[in-house]
Amino acid sequence: MVFDQLKKIARLVFLWFDTDDQAAELQTEGPAAEAFNWVRVLPFIGMHVACFCVLWVGWSPFAVGFAVALYLIRMFAITAFYHRYFSHRSFKSSRALQFIFAVLGCTAVQRGPLWWAAHHRHHHAFSDTERDAHSPRTRGFWWSHMLWFTCDANFPTQYHRVKDFAKYPELRFLNRYDILVPFVFAWAILFFGMALERWAPQLGVTGWQLLVWGFVISTVVLFHATFTINSLAHVIGTRPYQTKDDSRNHWFLALITLGEGWHNNHHRYPASVRQGFRWWEIDLTYYALRLMAALGLIWDLRPVPERILREPAERAAANQLQSIEGLS
Ligand SMILES: [Zn+2]
Ligand SMILES: [Zn+2]
Repeated sequence: MVFDQLKKIARLVFLWFDTDDQAAELQTEGPAAEAFNWVRVLPFIGMHVACFCVLWVGWSPFAVGFAVALYLIRMFAITAFYHRYFSHRSFKSSRALQFIFAVLGCTAVQRGPLWWAAHHRHHHAFSDTERDAHSPRTRGFWWSHMLWFTCDANFPTQYHRVKDFAKYPELRFLNRYDILVPFVFAWAILFFGMALERWAPQLGVTGWQLLVWGFVISTVVLFHATFTINSLAHVIGTRPYQTKDDSRNHWFLALITLGEGWHNNHHRYPASVRQGFRWWEIDLTYYALRLMAALGLIWDLRPVPERILREPAERAAANQLQSIEGLS
């Protein structure tokens, strides 16, 4: 009995390092599959607890600036590549660049690009229905924010949903061993901090301080900012488009996620590279992608069709007409 339990725990720990090998054996259907899996989620909990190390390492302007810079770079990798490229193919790029951004995306510790894109495609196919993996409408706020990935049901990569990218062995490798990149990344930050401590002592940085700010705190904030799109962006904000789901537009969410907060726009037309459809809907990722296109790094950026842009105004006009007719 005890031996069986130990074997089970060892298998779950093994899944930290190799997400494919025994994932097929996990039970992914039924209530048991949706139970909180403590062993699997320990690294995620550990990241949150590690934030308290800030009390021990202190801070410096350089470390905080470094954390902000890494937040912005990795948020861009998530929204521009994990989301707009791997999930929606809203622009084209070279095999080399897609790999570079897949690696950068991995540093955000949100699993591999194929797992992320496959679940996201599933979200769009079944948004806010019983089958949606993370709907606040059907399962409540905390489930949609983060509990959905703490169980076995959503652990395996649904490779059949991402056949277009799963054909690249380098992406399959990153996806399977998704802890590898964050592991190297964390050590690199620690060594960089130690180098600064030694050769640029005037900055007041230590290796551990840079690790805590640049990796731990920056990543945890990045987690929750990203998760708000699955939770809050289906709860708060405006709905210029009458989509079947509860997706909403919110300026603040758009700001912290570099454009993802225009989520109602996005659900109306997911194929578009742009999520802020109007000039005042600030979409920093889109501007950066335009710059990358101008430099020839990416191409075939898919626009929003005119008819979609006109929809809210046409609906408002139709509603006005209806109310005038109702009065007369
Ligand atoms: Zn959504
Ligand atoms: Zn999407």
